Amino acid sequence: MRSRHGLGLGAFLWACWPAQAQTIAVDVGHYLEKPGAISARGKAEFDFNLELAQKIAQALQAKGFEVKLVGEHGRMKDLKARTRAAAKADFFLSVHHDSVQPRYLSEWEFEGASRSYGDRYSGFSLFVSRKNPQLAPSLECASALGSELIRSGFKPSRHHAEPIPGENRTYADQANGVHYYDDLVVLKTARQPALLLEAGIIVNREDELTLSVPATREKIAAAVATALDVCTSKTD
Ligand SMILES: [Zn+2]
Repeated sequence: MRSRHGLGLGAFLWACWPAQAQTIAVDVGHYLEKPGAISARGKAEFDFNLELAQKIAQALQAKGFEVKLVGEHGRMKDLKARTRAAAKADFFLSVHHDSVQPRYLSEWEFEGASRSYGDRYSGFSLFVSRKNPQLAPSLECASALGSELIRSGFKPSRHHAEPIPGENRTYADQANGVHYYDDLVVLKTARQPALLLEAGIIVNREDELTLSVPATREKIAAAVATALDVCTSKTD
């Protein structure tokens, strides 16, 4: 057995990681009353998040994980209630779909209604918080997920790194699309390693169409399951 003596903080945290993470909390971002971003065709982010979270739950279960869905009923208004509900989980994954800053939005008409869209940016983003007590394994899993998504044909969006108000999110792992977002409430109040996935940009008209295809959800869910399977079983 390897001595823990002299290990850095990240390695020490890995040494404390259970041999097999049994439960993944899958948090469905937002709730029915305030459903998050509205897509270019008028569909609420919560609905995208729920569909993807359910697919992710199935893929994780197929890998042998237990899954605790959080907020799937659409009534969870308190962000801290989400991490409390997930207190016993080994990992916390928050599932979201993205928008862009208002300056990048334009108007178009879809099915008789005026809608906002922004096609300038496309792709996924991942976030971890330096205020989470388990940053090293959070980042390890975020990087693994970014890498797996890229391998599956997805691309990280760069819009959260843009030096403008509301963005300016420092990269934790630029190649794999991972940013620091220290004050994201679910990430900083989670006691276990945590990451937030923005699966794609639903105000982008192309991204929305891609994200609406069941096969896309399957691919993203498979990437999540593969990445978490690898990163949560890593021991040193
Ligand atoms: Zn969201």
